[in-house]
Amino acid sequence: MKRREFIKVSSLLSTSAVVSPTLFMGGCTTQALPGTGVVSKTPTICDMCFWKCAGDVYKEDNELWKITGNADDLHSGGRLCTRGTGGPGAYLDPDRLKKPLMRVTKEDGQQTFVEVSWDEALGFISEKMQMIADTAGPEKMLMLNHGAGSSHFRHLMRAYGSNSHAEPAFAQCRGPRDVGFKLTLGESASSPERTDMANAKCIVLIGSHIGENLHNAQVQTLAEAINKDVTLITVDPRFSVPAGKSKHWLPIKPGTDLALLLAWMNVLITEDLCDTDYLDRHAIGFEQLAEHVREYTPEWVYLETGIRPEVIRETAREMAKAAPATIIHPGRHAVWYGDDTQRSRAIAMLNALLGSWNRKGGFYIPEKVDLPAFPLPDYPKTKYSTADAYPGKWPFASQGVTNGVIEASIGEDAFFKGWLVYGTNLPQTIPGVADQLKAAADSLDLVVVVETMPSEMAGYADVILPECTYLERYDELRNSGERHPSLALRMPAFKPKYESKPGWWIAKQLGNRLGLEKYFPWEDFSEKLDWQLKEVGSSLEEMQKIGVKNFPRKYALYFREGQSVRFGTPSRKIELYSQQLADKGFDPMPVYTPPDPVPNGYYRLNYGRMPAHTFGKTTNNPLLFQLAPENQLWVNPLVANEWSIENEEYVRLASPTGVISNKIRVRVTERIGPDSVFMAHGFGHKSKRLRLTAGVGADDSELMSNVKVDPIMGGTGMRGSFVTFVKMQARGDS
Ligand code: SF4
Repeated sequence: MKRREFIKVSSLLSTSAVVSPTLFMGGCTTQALPGTGVVSKTPTICDMCFWKCAGDVYKEDNELWKITGNADDLHSGGRLCTRGTGGPGAYLDPDRLKKPLMRVTKEDGQQTFVEVSWDEALGFISEKMQMIADTAGPEKMLMLNHGAGSSHFRHLMRAYGSNSHAEPAFAQCRGPRDVGFKLTLGESASSPERTDMANAKCIVLIGSHIGENLHNAQVQTLAEAINKDVTLITVDPRFSVPAGKSKHWLPIKPGTDLALLLAWMNVLITEDLCDTDYLDRHAIGFEQLAEHVREYTPEWVYLETGIRPEVIRETAREMAKAAPATIIHPGRHAVWYGDDTQRSRAIAMLNALLGSWNRKGGFYIPEKVDLPAFPLPDYPKTKYSTADAYPGKWPFASQGVTNGVIEASIGEDAFFKGWLVYGTNLPQTIPGVADQLKAAADSLDLVVVVETMPSEMAGYADVILPECTYLERYDELRNSGERHPSLALRMPAFKPKYESKPGWWIAKQLGNRLGLEKYFPWEDFSEKLDWQLKEVGSSLEEMQKIGVKNFPRKYALYFREGQSVRFGTPSRKIELYSQQLADKGFDPMPVYTPPDPVPNGYYRLNYGRMPAHTFGKTTNNPLLFQLAPENQLWVNPLVANEWSIENEEYVRLASPTGVISNKIRVRVTERIGPDSVFMAHGFGHKSKRLRLTAGVGADDSELMSNVKVDPIMGGTGMRGSFVTFVKMQARGDS
C-alpha cells in the first residue's frame, strides 16, 4: 500500500447548505440610507485573482449586500470585474473547508481524513517540521504557493531557516517573460504590466487574450485606447475577443510566433524604421541583430506562419509610424513551446527597436510607496538555496522551478523532505504531473496544505488547514509598482466562518510552537499594519475608512530626453546580443525552431481563459458557477463534419499517452482553425467535495503531453500537446 494515498476530501465533510453570514462590524464605516436599512462598508482587496483590485464590502442591516470597486483606486479604475463582484460566493460557498483535517489509517488499512482540533493539527506539523530541521536541515522543507496570503507563510519559513520556495506563477506562467525582459532590458515587464496603453497609438497582442482574461484595469485601458482609435494588431490562431476589435488580425499557424517577430525586426531594420537615436544611446548588439534577422524575410516567414509578406510589412510599418507610442505587449502566460524565454526576448527586442521602453505610449516606469518593513530580527542564514535541488539546470531561473522541486522530492534520497503548500492546486496547474505528485507524496515526511477549498491538492496532505477567505482576514498592504503609487487595505468584513482561521494567525501559531516567537511580536496582524501605515503618514484607522491611499510620484514616469540611463544588464545597456546567454551555451539572439507537426488524426490543444473564472480557483463559486458552469470545446466546422460531431454535443478527448478527459460540450465555430481545438482552463475537477464543479467540463492540464521545458529558465511549454476525439457513443457514454 502507498504510504500516502490520494483521499477524496468528500468522505469526511458535512454537506451543509448556505447559511446566513455571521457579521462582524469592527472597523467599518456606517451611514443611514432613507428607506433602507443601515448600510456599512468595509475595505477589501479582491483575491479572486492576482490583480489586487481594491473594493468595498457593503452590508445592509448587517447582512451581506454586495462588493464594489473602491472609487479612489487608480489601480483598478474604481471597478471590480465580473469575478471580483462574485467575491461573496467565495465566502458563502458551503463546500469550504471547515475544520483542520488529519490523515489517518483505519483498521482496514484504508486512509481517510479525520477532523482534529487546531491544537492537534499545529502540534503535529510543528513536531514534524522540527524533526526535518534537526535531521536534514530546515532548507529541506519546501514551500509551494500562490496568492497574496502566502506572505505570512513565506515569513514563517524564512524564520524557520528555509528559503526553499517555488510557485507555478513562474515556471507555469510568466517566468519566461520576466527572464526574457530582464536579460534584454534589465527589468521585468512587472505585474500589473507597465504598458502605457492609455497613451499608445499602436498595440500589438501576441497570444494575449485581454478581455478574455479579465485583468481589470488592463481591459479598461485597452478599451479606452480602442475608443481613441489605437491601431490594434492581434496575432492569434483563434478569432479571439481582441481579434474582433483589431484593425489587423493575423491568424498565425500555432507555434510560429517567433518567426513573425524576427520578420518584423527584419522589416524595421531593412527599411530603416528603427529608432536609431534611442538605440545608439541605449543598446548594444544592433549590428549582430541586423545580420541575424537578415534571413527571416517576410517571404520566408510566410511559409512558416501563413501570414502574407505584405501583411508582415504593413503591420511593421504601422508599428514604426506610431513609435515610440507602440506596445508589443509582453503577454503574461508565456509558457508555450519551450523556447519561450527567447520568444519573450524577441518581444523585448522589438520594443527596443521601436524605442518604446520607458517612453510615453510604450512602457512607463513603475513606482511603489516607500513603505518600511516592520522591525524584526534577521532571518537565519541558509545553507542551501532552492536551485541546489536541481544543480546545473536552468541557469537563468530567477525563482524556484516547480517541476524541478517536485522531481527533487521523489525517492528515499530526495532533496526535499517536507512541503507546505499554500493556495495552489498543483494537479491542475502543472501539466501531466499526477504521477510525480503521487511519487512525491509517497516519499515526503510531511505534506501540509493550507486552503480555503477542498482542492485536489488537499487529497495529498497529511494535514489540511482551513484558511478563512479574504473577506474574513487581514493580509499585507497592497503596494504594487505602478503608474500611481498607492496603498490598499484588506481587512475582515466578517468573522471567520466555521473553524477557519486567517493565514497570519496560522503562521504565528506554528512560529510559536517552533520557538520563533520573536518573529511574530504582534497579537493581531493589524498592529503590524498600523505601525507601517504610521511610518508613511497614515494609520490603520484612516485606512479602515478610506481603503486606498494614493501617494504622489517621486520619480519621472518615463525616460527624460537625453537622459543617461543605466539598465539592469551586465553591460548596463539594452542587450540585443546577449553575452550572458552565449556564455552559458545558449543562442545569444533568438533562433526560430518550427513546432512539432500535428500527428494524423490529432489536433493541437489550445487553451485559455474565460471572463467569469480565474482558473480552477473560482469554478465552484456558486455565483460565478451560475454565470459560466462549464467550459466548451471550440471545433472548426470542417473537423466537426469529418468526425460527425454536432454543435452542443458532448465528446471526450484523448491524449497520445492514453489520458481520456471528462466530457466536454462542443462549440462548432470558424473562430478556430482546423488544426486546433480550444478550451478554457480550470474545469474537470476531480475533488467530489467541490459539489458544483466536480466532473463538470474537461481539464486541459491532464491532457498535456509533449511538454517542452525551457532550458534557460525551466518553464513548461504547454502548447505542444495534441488531442483527438473520443465519441461518447464509442465508449457507451450517455
Ligand atoms: Fe478581482 Fe477582477 Fe481585480 Fe482580479 S481583476 S482582483 S478578479 S476585480
